[in-house]
Amino acid sequence: MRSHLKGIGASAGIAIAKAFRLVEPDLQVTKQRIGNRDAEEQRLRQAISRAKKEIEEITDYVNRELGADKAEILAAQTLVLNDPELLNPVFERIRTEGINAEFALKESADHFISMLEALESEYMRERAKDIRDVTKRVIAHLLGLSITDPGLISEEVVIIAEDLAPSDTARLNRRYVKGFTTDIGGRTSHSAIMARTLEIPAVVGTKQATSTIEHGTVVIVDGLEGEVIIDPSPETIAQYEAKKAQYETQKAEWAKLVHEPTVTKDGLHVELAANIGAPVDVNSVLENGGEAIGLYRTEFLYMGKDRLPTEEEQFVAYKAVLEKMQGKPVVIRTLDIGGDKELPYLELPKEMNPFLGFRAIRLCLDRQDIFRVQLRALLRGSIYGNLRIMFPMIATLDEFRVARDLLVEEKEKLQKEGYEVSDKIQLGIMVEIPSTALMADQFAKEIDFFSIGTNDLIQYTMAADRMNEQVSYLYQPYNPAILRLVKNVIDAAHANGKWVGMCGEMAGDPMAIPLLLGLGLDEFSMSATSILPARSQISMLSASEMKELANQALQLGTTEEVIELVKSGS
Ligand code: PEP
Ligand code: MG
Repeated sequence: MRSHLKGIGASAGIAIAKAFRLVEPDLQVTKQRIGNRDAEEQRLRQAISRAKKEIEEITDYVNRELGADKAEILAAQTLVLNDPELLNPVFERIRTEGINAEFALKESADHFISMLEALESEYMRERAKDIRDVTKRVIAHLLGLSITDPGLISEEVVIIAEDLAPSDTARLNRRYVKGFTTDIGGRTSHSAIMARTLEIPAVVGTKQATSTIEHGTVVIVDGLEGEVIIDPSPETIAQYEAKKAQYETQKAEWAKLVHEPTVTKDGLHVELAANIGAPVDVNSVLENGGEAIGLYRTEFLYMGKDRLPTEEEQFVAYKAVLEKMQGKPVVIRTLDIGGDKELPYLELPKEMNPFLGFRAIRLCLDRQDIFRVQLRALLRGSIYGNLRIMFPMIATLDEFRVARDLLVEEKEKLQKEGYEVSDKIQLGIMVEIPSTALMADQFAKEIDFFSIGTNDLIQYTMAADRMNEQVSYLYQPYNPAILRLVKNVIDAAHANGKWVGMCGEMAGDPMAIPLLLGLGLDEFSMSATSILPARSQISMLSASEMKELANQALQLGTTEEVIELVKSGS
């Protein structure tokens, strides 16, 4: 069935490949009487051995691609499938009661899961999770369904999913996953940000991808326009192949700017930095001519594990990034967990409004045991490059001061222990909360720099959840209210001799760049793939004209008026 979906272009480029549905199957089971009890036992044995084989394959893959520590997690799952305490009662019930294997297995597993979950021990609760995962896999086989693991894809595909958890996105193999499209999410949801980091074309928030696209159908993901074409005709495929080639040519033009500085027509230099989620991302930053790292989201070090990363593991990661950047600035943000980024092993209570809840610096100031480990790792890494430390989600000056004091304490402790720590570390905060943007003059006296996190600043200013398409019309980067807050931060910083960056997605948005340049932003931090197009755009703009343009925009009433102004004036 030929058709076409509209969504949000979350990562540029065009992908044409077969659809791979990453959708959890319906694993509901009902109690049934079966005729042949031997055959039913045999069916269960087969399903168990298929599940074992699958887990082995996943373990091998994870071991190879992601390291032995992550593979360890899966070893516990194999044990479950050899556990007589779980399985013997299932075979027993099939034999004596003549009921279907899936129902007997589900009941036995549920019994163990509720027993383990009732215990205090975190270890036991983890085992409950293993039992749940493994039985799901066996039941899927019994029902003739399968549970797919995105890390195991080994042919060229476009992924179709309701949403992708950041940990799923992190495991996608770029070699095979040519693009993805989801039902929910916006440009600033973390799966979208990851797609840009991995340079995988993506369209998110289509609302209907999973309900309309069948597994195996050819689809085109046009991340430039935010369109998905399902089962295209040969003519359409040819047309998109041409568009893809054109985009590649454009990219080749941009590539000529890799080693150039970023300078406006009238000679103003600004810094183009990149946002990263892991040390490997630095390669793409350097390939794309990044002058700095403006945001290293360290939370990915904490995700996709079943425990907190150790000081040593963190130190190795931070050192690697600093060394690879060879003295260029590297802004590392301390842990920003919460919102749409969960850490199941911390077992935090579910919240009504996770984006307004116990996240980022709030959690770190409460769980100082976790925070101090990160600060130590950062401080120890500081001698390997040009480190700047940044605290996320600062709402009050007090929060900043407490966090800063902890950093100072850890520095002194390390020095007493004989470690060398750089004395050139700049310390900054993210401006993501309107209270902080409004109080920038006070903060500016105590910080070394600001980095404006518009992904959150917009959602908090407009009271519009960044994950909710229903209110995405309110998610307005060019609203004069946002521009005024940005101006307030930049003016306050400059009055105190401090610099201001922006690491929200707005910094790489071609419509926002003229305005931000005009407002005096010093550093623009974006997905690595946006750097060269931004450098090309900035080289054609005049900073003094953009100042004029920004001043006019600040006096307008609506987003639409600002867009009109930028279109006519830049
Ligand atoms: C932001 O809020 O703009 C930001 C960069 O942080 P994150 O997207 O990780 O919340
Ligand atoms: Mg944020």
